[in-house]
Amino acid sequence: MLSASEITELLAVRGDDQERLFARARACRRAAHGDNVYVRGVTEVTNVCTVNCDYCPMRKDNTADNDIYWLSTDELVAAAGAVRASGINVVLFQAGEAGRTTRVVGEALPRIRALFGDDVEIMLNLGNKSRDDYAYLRDQGATTYILKHESANPEINQRMRHESLESRLRCMTDLLELGYRVGTGGIVGLPGQTLVDIADDIVLARDMGVHMCSFTPFVPAARTPLEGHPPGDVDVTLNAVAASRIVAPHWLIPSVSALEKTATGGQGRGYAAGANVLTINFTPDKNLDQYLIYGEQRFVVRGDYAARLLADTGLTASRSPYTVAARAA
Ligand code: SF4
Repeated sequence: MLSASEITELLAVRGDDQERLFARARACRRAAHGDNVYVRGVTEVTNVCTVNCDYCPMRKDNTADNDIYWLSTDELVAAAGAVRASGINVVLFQAGEAGRTTRVVGEALPRIRALFGDDVEIMLNLGNKSRDDYAYLRDQGATTYILKHESANPEINQRMRHESLESRLRCMTDLLELGYRVGTGGIVGLPGQTLVDIADDIVLARDMGVHMCSFTPFVPAARTPLEGHPPGDVDVTLNAVAASRIVAPHWLIPSVSALEKTATGGQGRGYAAGANVLTINFTPDKNLDQYLIYGEQRFVVRGDYAARLLADTGLTASRSPYTVAARAA
């Protein structure tokens, strides 16, 4: 088992050492997952958020100036229909943190299960909620939940998110105890963050027993307190992906669109570093520009780009093995 200090050393490698790290990560991926890349279809439910993260344009302080939208339950079901028509059976609903998402999304889930005949993995990324809300969403059909801890350093978490790491970890524990498959992860390049902090992100995910972990380079966005801060280092982010794969070969690990936004070709390098998840955006065109995560010029993954990206990796697009039907069996 890799120690935190060994992971920290891996995060710093470059050149030939980095290529060797990536090759080792790919071997771990192949042993655990073959050549499969699990494809998700994400729909962004609302751009309202009650949290005030310093790096995010959807932060609470910006709400009054943002062009607010909410998708209806009918629109969520329609988006899931488009996901299904694309041959994808992982339906991901993502939003800022807002209490109303429990009802709007929860009411859509039984209809989506029926649409897929339960051959669907319903994945949510809706932030901190009460244990009762998580239980309700699970009973409606959600199988998986992404709740990134963002930074394992409690001081950075409090300074960047104005919330405690402890409250985040309590939600992750609730989700695990309720039987969700849970994904977490961190941001690379936050002010004051060290490689030791990023190694701790991986150790925290391993020790909590999550099923998925992702790393995203920090992307400076206009109208945020961090708009003048430099972007996160893509090589460190890719090394974090590779180290995660070696630490936990069974994890699902995305190669995120923010890698492409930060460096052309960055998302493809994520697969070379051992990632095995691709997320395609199904948010309706009319709302796409209103979902401001990473800022107004974010890089959006649509089907045509995803097909080219996958072809370049030589990996195989795959459906989820973790469906509602599989959980019931
Ligand atoms: Fe809200 Fe998420 Fe943005 Fe933080 S990162 S302000 S929780 S939408």
